[in-house]
Amino acid sequence: MLQSLGYGATDAHKPLHELRFERRDPGPTDVQIDILYCGVCHSDLHTARNEWGNTVYPVVPGHEIVGRVSAVGNKVTRFKPGDVVGVGCMVDSCQHCRSCAEGLEQYCENGFVGTYNGEEMHSGGMTYGGYASNIVVTEKFVLRISDKLDPAAAAPLLCAGITTWSPLRHWKVGKGQKVGIVGLGGLGHMGIKLAHALGAHVVLFTTSPGKKEDAMRLGADEVVVSRDAQQMQAHENSFDFILNTVAAPHSLDAFLVLLKREGTMTLVGAPAEPHPSPQVFNLIMKRRHLAGSLIGGIAETQEMLDFCAEHGIASDIEMIPIQQINDAYERMLKSDVKYRFVIDMASLKGNT
Ligand code: NAP
Ligand code: ZN
Repeated sequence: MLQSLGYGATDAHKPLHELRFERRDPGPTDVQIDILYCGVCHSDLHTARNEWGNTVYPVVPGHEIVGRVSAVGNKVTRFKPGDVVGVGCMVDSCQHCRSCAEGLEQYCENGFVGTYNGEEMHSGGMTYGGYASNIVVTEKFVLRISDKLDPAAAAPLLCAGITTWSPLRHWKVGKGQKVGIVGLGGLGHMGIKLAHALGAHVVLFTTSPGKKEDAMRLGADEVVVSRDAQQMQAHENSFDFILNTVAAPHSLDAFLVLLKREGTMTLVGAPAEPHPSPQVFNLIMKRRHLAGSLIGGIAETQEMLDFCAEHGIASDIEMIPIQQINDAYERMLKSDVKYRFVIDMASLKGNT
């Protein structure tokens, strides 16, 4: 077995700490990767603290991985040692259901294998994520990272980037449309950048008035403080599409009434507690849609990475050594993230 050093949780109520664990040795179709950087997603925190009630301990979070290939199996054709590559939220899926056939592995009818806290298809154990020295992933789920992208700033594209890109593309966001992004955190800041690059008029909704200047710099055309009823009212019935990234329960009605006839609000935020039920009349009176979306497929993740390389788009990051991961989680809970923490994995090696 391949030895791995990382950071993980052994209990919902204790801080993350250093862990040693094993991964499968690379098989013929596997790529072995030395991890350089790993972004910190709010889903990591939800999982480490068992907020979704499905965590199997020990858990090693991290699904925004950029690293360098260190070895490949003899059937691997697309990668060679030395390549800079990415791994996102999935490391496997059944590959034969309708969703997999359509390149929508995230909706695999037999359940995709999460990069962490998932059931390993090969060894039968659990998967461990990217807060670690290395990872082994089947070739199909490894992404190419262009040398035009800074590898650390590219890491958050593997989750925050694709989770916002996929719904923006699915609902055909583009020129001439008024698009709202709710919440300026990791997902939200990528949502602003990508919606802006796709040509939409972008409005950020935030609970943090202090983030206004940053939002404009990131590509927002307007900023609305969502707790200010007057500011919200000024936008009633005007949005084509709203992407809601908020990680906590809140009133969906406050945003549904801002959609114009047949507009859509898509939820990507996944709070542990449910939102209060929206008023059905806010949907039926204007044939509005309330929807959800999960990360994105492998092909569209590559498409997003290539789009970002071409358009010079990456994440605005704050680099941390892995020893600061627990402080980073606390700051994330206070909405104090500008706008994605990325772990420099060299700090892990320095610790051994
Ligand atoms: P994050 O960096 O913590 O950002 C969340 C933002 O939501 C905050 O910065 C804040 O923005 C806003 N917010 C937080 N608490 C709020 C509250 N009580 N009321 C209103 N707004 C609040 O988190 P993230 O990494 O972007 O992830 C966001 C959510 O998406 C998480 O639940 C995560 O698990 C989920 N997620 C889903 C998918 C998917 O496939 N659907 C993928 C990845 C992550 P302001 O300061 O601007 O208000
Ligand atoms: Zn994530």
